[in-house]
Amino acid sequence: MNQSYYLPHTKLQSLLDAIIERGYRCVGPQTRGGTITYDDFSQVKELPWGYEDEQLPGQYTLKKTQKTGYFNWVNGPQAIKPELFKPKESLWNVTRDEEGKLSFQPAQLTPAPLCLFGVRPCDIAAMQIQDKVFITGTYRDERYAQRRENTLIIAANCITSSNNCFCVGAGGFPKAERGYDIALTEIEDGFTLEFGSEQGSDIIASLKLSEADGSQINYAKQRIQEAADKQTKTLPGTNLRDALMNNLDHPRWDAVAERCLSCGNCTQVCPTCFCHSEEDEPNVKGNHSEHVREWDSCFTQGHSYIHGKVIRSQTRQRYRQWLTHKLGTWHDQFGESGCVGCGRCVSWCPVGIDITEEATAICSDFINLENKENSHG
Ligand code: SF4
Ligand code: SF4
Repeated sequence: MNQSYYLPHTKLQSLLDAIIERGYRCVGPQTRGGTITYDDFSQVKELPWGYEDEQLPGQYTLKKTQKTGYFNWVNGPQAIKPELFKPKESLWNVTRDEEGKLSFQPAQLTPAPLCLFGVRPCDIAAMQIQDKVFITGTYRDERYAQRRENTLIIAANCITSSNNCFCVGAGGFPKAERGYDIALTEIEDGFTLEFGSEQGSDIIASLKLSEADGSQINYAKQRIQEAADKQTKTLPGTNLRDALMNNLDHPRWDAVAERCLSCGNCTQVCPTCFCHSEEDEPNVKGNHSEHVREWDSCFTQGHSYIHGKVIRSQTRQRYRQWLTHKLGTWHDQFGESGCVGCGRCVSWCPVGIDITEEATAICSDFINLENKENSHG
């Protein structure tokens, strides 16, 4: 295990300064429009001191409390995904000169070193899932890959969970185990710090911190365990592929479709969803056009438009596509589930549809039967 250090709240700015001095643009959690949102910052006073969030299916409330601490909240509608996989960006453009000659140019890509500060463990797990999609998968995405290579991750282990969190049931834990440069766990008057990379080790060394003592380390562990113990939601298993694919005609798909608005909120807030569409945006003069990529959703009509026909015209088909991919066929594509249990799709669904309840309703009978058969040899 890495050495733990102690950073008092009063020295948090020195950590931030050490990161900024190394040329990083810092993006961290702040209060925006009644939520926690990641945005540019350079001063710790911009972080959400004393804030807590309450989350229920279809509900999210952020409130200021008398509690001390920067990380008493759980998460907001956006994770760090928009910093690496941009909601909308130009890929290339084409210009026609007066003689009608076309010239194609790739869009500029000069990613500045980026520090993502205060990243939750589930969002680091989600980023690692997106790495498989955009870097190590069949088609490498240079734009994502270059941003990722220039990114420093400062994790903030969870010290509480919302009513919608289920990272434990999704196979994770509220402590970052890998994928970070420095991991913070907030204790009463500061943080314990661990490094996860050489870069993180250099930054910590520059701060000349004392080692955390046994009681600080134990308290940090206790807070993370309490966050895990607080979770009440869970999935019926971490690999639901067979259970879902054997239940494509389950009556629950019709029941959920009666409530689902096909709004796509769940896919927009999900830190692992990666579907996107591409289109051309010509100017009015007709001599220049941008080719843009934009987040898409399996809940839109256009997403399943193939050869002149929308093949998933009904909400039932779209919800089924989302759930069977996220929790099922994602295993075929990437060797793991596409859900890290952040709970965002539950909080930000306008009608409060809960992925854990839907998965349980659809999969439980199949899983119970499978378990019974296995126990009989
Ligand atoms: S499916 Fe829902 S709970 Fe799972 S990672 Fe996406 S938003 Fe989070
Ligand atoms: S499940 Fe909820 S958030 Fe997702 S499309 Fe349906 S209504 Fe919208």
